[in-house]
Amino acid sequence: MLKQILKQSSCGKCRICCGFDESDKWEIPLVFDELKKLIEERFPDVKLIPRGNEHVFDMQFNGDEVVYCPMLTENGCILGDDKPFDCRIWPFRVNDLNGTRVITVSPVCGEVSSLPLSALTEFAEKDGFAQKLFRAAKAHPDMVKPYISGYPIIAAEV
Ligand code: SF4
Repeated sequence: MLKQILKQSSCGKCRICCGFDESDKWEIPLVFDELKKLIEERFPDVKLIPRGNEHVFDMQFNGDEVVYCPMLTENGCILGDDKPFDCRIWPFRVNDLNGTRVITVSPVCGEVSSLPLSALTEFAEKDGFAQKLFRAAKAHPDMVKPYISGYPIIAAEV
């Protein structure tokens, strides 16, 4: 979904978005029902736990230690194109800002964050990317996280 602005080769080398610690475990991707079935069939040892109306990978944390997603292999995400929606759109996020849904970009992704804001807002409009995210957020409200001060906003729901 992000191929126009994020090279797959850059993601392959980085993988920062597949590691979590205690402080950012809220970022663990949501697993929607269809994907949950697929994971249960293909990876019966992987444990999923409920989060709101969805599920997340059951990951155990120990302070600041970074724990990698159980779907991450040395060749990247084993789920490929079936990866969670949250992963397909990262570093973009749908956030709630005083009752309005906005799309923000996480500064943790250096590659995307280095692009000019104008390029990001243009991308959000292109091919209905922003609308896709807002539609998904409507169907899966648990993916909407509180706005974090300072995160650049590239679109707002009207
Ligand atoms: S599901 Fe795949 S892309 Fe998403 S965090 Fe896990 S390894 Fe990374």
